Amino acid sequence: MRIYDREHGKIYRQEHKEEEKERHKKYYDEQKKKILERARERRKLPEVREKNTERARRYNQSHREKVNAYQRKYQNEHRNYYVKWARERKRELKKWAVDKLGRKCFDCGLESKFDFIYDLHHENEAESWSHFQNVNKTDMIRIRKLKEWQKADKIPNDIKLLCANCHRIRHYGDLNE
Ligand SMILES: [Zn+2]
Repeated sequence: MRIYDREHGKIYRQEHKEEEKERHKKYYDEQKKKILERARERRKLPEVREKNTERARRYNQSHREKVNAYQRKYQNEHRNYYVKWARERKRELKKWAVDKLGRKCFDCGLESKFDFIYDLHHENEAESWSHFQNVNKTDMIRIRKLKEWQKADKIPNDIKLLCANCHRIRHYGDLNE
């Protein structure tokens, strides 16, 4: 009986080779999906997240050159996406900063729902980002600074929210010196 069964199975598999292959493939795909799903869920746990962030930080520090080179390469290859992302992120951060500073011009009190009429004026000019000539660099610095402030939920006291007019008036002296 046993021998018969084994033979039977062998014959069945030979006759249904493609189906069997399909069935196995499906099984492994499903398992894979489950495994990946489980791993994804695990990465969301705070303690796992913290550990991974710490590990990434250590790696970035000890492989700085390699990481920088990779980032440069990646950014070049994804330039359009990157520019778009930076623009959106900047907009988001600007909105946060404008809200945080009361959405009101520090000098004239102008209130507006439009973020773009406001500038962030650095009263300590030596550290101002307006001194950076390179536009991309300026963007990056601005984003980095804004990100830092957002994370701390605090904007330094020497940053003033000014409307475009008042900002120009503040800098009037600079141009005539
Ligand atoms: Zn103003």
